[in-house]
Amino acid sequence: MNILVCVKQVPNTQEIKIDPVTNTLIREGVESIVNPFDAYALEAAARLKDRDPENVTIFVLSMGPPQAEAALRECLGLAADAAYLASDRAFGGSDTLATSYILSQAVKKIEKDIEFKFDMIFCGKQAIDGDTAQVGPEMAEILDLPQVTYGLTCEVKENELYVTRETEDGKEVVAVRFPCLVTFTKPDFEPRFASAKRRFAAKKMPVNFIGADDIADIDRSRIGLKGSPTQVRRTFVPEQKKGGTVFRDGEWEDNTRSLAQMLIDNAVVVNMQ
Ligand code: FAD
Repeated sequence: MNILVCVKQVPNTQEIKIDPVTNTLIREGVESIVNPFDAYALEAAARLKDRDPENVTIFVLSMGPPQAEAALRECLGLAADAAYLASDRAFGGSDTLATSYILSQAVKKIEKDIEFKFDMIFCGKQAIDGDTAQVGPEMAEILDLPQVTYGLTCEVKENELYVTRETEDGKEVVAVRFPCLVTFTKPDFEPRFASAKRRFAAKKMPVNFIGADDIADIDRSRIGLKGSPTQVRRTFVPEQKKGGTVFRDGEWEDNTRSLAQMLIDNAVVVNMQ
């Protein structure tokens, strides 16, 4: 079984700062980490490998600047066997559709090089910086794979992958045939830590770079800023919600008065003409 995990390097912060001129993320001075949801996807792959170490190989793929190599090395230290980084100036400025296209083309190129297809592609549910949760489902569409979203854990049974997924009111188990794509959300356990031995070995393992010229049939009209249909009009960090008003039991009259006053203060006049 061959599993490819898509991993994005993201800034380690809840408060994203945006350059007001270019409308892109300010990354300077902010520590970079493996996107937490991708760490859950890698842990799901690692657990499949724990059960069948001889027959499971884990690959990791990222798209980003050369610094993203650090995130891939972290994954090699944790559980991955091979790492690939799609990195090229021509990829810069890509929106989610262009990113998904580039990652999908990279998947096809790796499959051609290694001469076998991936049985499973795992992604995080979303990246904590872009937050769109579009890349996994878009890749599934481009690669024409069945997809399961909001995965928590998974198990291989005969020719299917049984994914326990989060739903609005609990959990459900979905069986999907190979090859498939699964996006993972936060389970009720934390991912493993890298052992010192693995971390040391990871420093010496190769990270394979993939540029635009390495992907033979890449459609250049679908990559980078020019290949991105999204237009960013304005970017901003939303204001933190303030605490609400608390109405206590036993103060019925006062509560009614306060509530009526709040409705008056916040009234919206609708012109029905
Ligand atoms: P999500 O869809 O939330 O991610 C879901 C999952 O997909 C992740 O958990 C991960 O498994 C996988 N995934 C997502 N991105 C990657 C990746 N890069 N590598 C591997 N796996 C991944 N970003 C820049 O860094 N530089 C730019 O110049 C730039 N320009 C942009 C221009 C426009 C017009 C727009 C709209 C966005 C731009 N972005 C840029 C942001 C970039 O498009 C997104 O970071 C990227 O598409 C991923 O989307 P997301 O972060 O919402 O990921």
